[in-house]
Amino acid sequence: MLARDGIAPGQLLPLVRQRILDALAFRRQTVRDSDAYRLIFSEADLLPGLIADRYGDLITLQVLTQAMDLDPVRETVTRTLAEELKPAAIIERVDTRIRELEQLPPRPDQVVFASDESAAKTATVVSMNGIRFHYDALAGQKSGAFLDQRENYAAAERYARGRALDIFTYQGGFALHLNRVCEQVTAVDASLPALQMAEKNAALNGGREIEWIEANAFDLLRDYADAGRQYETIVLDPPAFVKNRRTLDTAMRGYKELNLRAMKMLTHGGVLATCSCSFHVAEAEFLEMLLQAANDVHREVRILEKRGQAKDHPVLLGVPETAYLKCVICQVL
Ligand code: SAH
Repeated sequence: MLARDGIAPGQLLPLVRQRILDALAFRRQTVRDSDAYRLIFSEADLLPGLIADRYGDLITLQVLTQAMDLDPVRETVTRTLAEELKPAAIIERVDTRIRELEQLPPRPDQVVFASDESAAKTATVVSMNGIRFHYDALAGQKSGAFLDQRENYAAAERYARGRALDIFTYQGGFALHLNRVCEQVTAVDASLPALQMAEKNAALNGGREIEWIEANAFDLLRDYADAGRQYETIVLDPPAFVKNRRTLDTAMRGYKELNLRAMKMLTHGGVLATCSCSFHVAEAEFLEMLLQAANDVHREVRILEKRGQAKDHPVLLGVPETAYLKCVICQVL
């Protein structure tokens, strides 16, 4: 739904263009310390089914609804972004499963605009909170990086110290931030390509060597907890376990197991930054799960901050789906 009242013929494209301009103005007001952030966040920018992210001089697009997939709309979107932001390239990233669900014809990932048509740029380096990351628009999971965590990286860094563990590190987002303030950082992920990119990111930033471990987080946490390892700081940022309501119970057990082991390994006063990006897990449920985990390991937990996604992923009152990320920073006593 683009508007509550009908849109007159001829008004659709100007409306889409104006909403894009509004979205860009909102980012100019709210985004600090980064050249990688979400430009357009679907319903929250009154453009359902359209997502655009900026990565330095590149823009990625995701088109997820029939209305946004109409050729004149696509063209307006691409032209407006190209004119306003003068990117080197705009690249469309395609989620095949969603296109199927929406009954849209398949499309490949592709460059839809290039300032230099003979050699479109598709990889670049961006900076978030002063830390540099490689970005390759045609590789990686999801749309490439987890921009929604950007402000949480900085928040976690403010509390972090000592020995740190970053579980589900992907390309090192939290680990690289923790490495500026911690004595020792170990980062874990099940994906080797993600860790290889994380190592390249680490090389770009210098600093102390980070220990990258390819492992299943559940197994590793169990082994480490059983071995009596101790940390001052632990980050948990698992993938969305809950894709739908039916799998909620299993997912809550997964969250609890991870958090329980992390709490067990934290020293007195240790900091846990624990996240859930599953929309289906409400904040109250997430806190309840944390309480059960704390009770099971006989620890008291004090909440330092309850956080959500970065401000460039705004939440639209009345569209609960636009609020999906929880990041609770707490202290384990
Ligand atoms: N913290 C990251 C984002 C994490 S996304 C950031 O801020 O950029 C979730 C990550 O979990 C992915 O990189 C995925 O490879 C990893 N993953 C999924 N299942 C896993 C498992 N069982 N053990 C370890 N890593 C896993």
